[in-house]
Amino acid sequence: MKLILANPRGFCAGVNMAIESLEKALDMFGAPLYVYHEIVHNRPIVERFRARGVVFVDSISEVPTGATVLYSAHGVSPEIRDASKTRNLRAIDATCPLVTKVHLEAVRFARDGYTIVLIGHDGHDEVIGTMGEAPASMVLVEDEADVAALTLPADTKLAFLTQTTLSVDEARVVIEALRRKYPQIIGPHKDDICYATQNRQEAVRAIVPEVDVVLVLGSQNSSNSQRLAEIARATNRAAYLIDRAEELQDNWFQPTDTVLITAGASAPEDHVQDCVDRLKARFGATVEARTVREEHVSFPLPRELRVLTKV
Ligand code: SF4
Repeated sequence: MKLILANPRGFCAGVNMAIESLEKALDMFGAPLYVYHEIVHNRPIVERFRARGVVFVDSISEVPTGATVLYSAHGVSPEIRDASKTRNLRAIDATCPLVTKVHLEAVRFARDGYTIVLIGHDGHDEVIGTMGEAPASMVLVEDEADVAALTLPADTKLAFLTQTTLSVDEARVVIEALRRKYPQIIGPHKDDICYATQNRQEAVRAIVPEVDVVLVLGSQNSSNSQRLAEIARATNRAAYLIDRAEELQDNWFQPTDTVLITAGASAPEDHVQDCVDRLKARFGATVEARTVREEHVSFPLPRELRVLTKV
């Protein structure tokens, strides 16, 4: 068996920043510390923090008055910020700057009188947060069928935005459908899909022709991890999305298989290494690291933590 480890894989700059923010906030304020939604969409990480006294909530009303709340990497709507203020919470905003960029585009387009078509997945934390910036001006589409069903008048002043973690290929199809139906539509140059999502997809696409099986480390509710598995399956490879090595099953593999291992942007590297160790022990696998693209992106900690650190 041969393992090919895709690079880049795993943590992106936004996830690194969000996790570091939570670590720092725990050091500074201690437990219990409240986080609105999962800090990142990864079960092992959420479980680790929960064991240290972090309380993950889906409603600001669950946070005691005056307590500290941290917003997850996926961002929040203005309604949530207002609810925090009303409860006199100390809010720390660990929203990824690339998500904030989409929020600001939504605000700008709405202010300029555009109706905004957001391409994204219904119910995803990021989509809920972005739509909350201009709820009266936004409609959500997930695919080409949703575009066909749009009943906006042909001459509507229109703009589009996208969720940051979509499949690059699928987003392109939806954008083309929008442009065909509403030629006047404007938007970002290509889409808002972030560098980390694009690079992890690019690496899978480049390596998958050489392999028999694909392992994606990541949680089921992680949009960018799901997209990596889908790209592999679209090439007729078996692809498994797992949180940890304990989920591996021997009958997924033949002893002579070449296996691509990658990880979504919120999946920790130790679980990748656990899989490598297990496949080495079970099948005598050899390992090759393959770099498709270098990444050198980092984001500063939230302003609230930087200010407090200086005091
Ligand atoms: S996946 Fe992209 S948008 Fe999401 S946190 Fe990472 S860098 Fe930010």
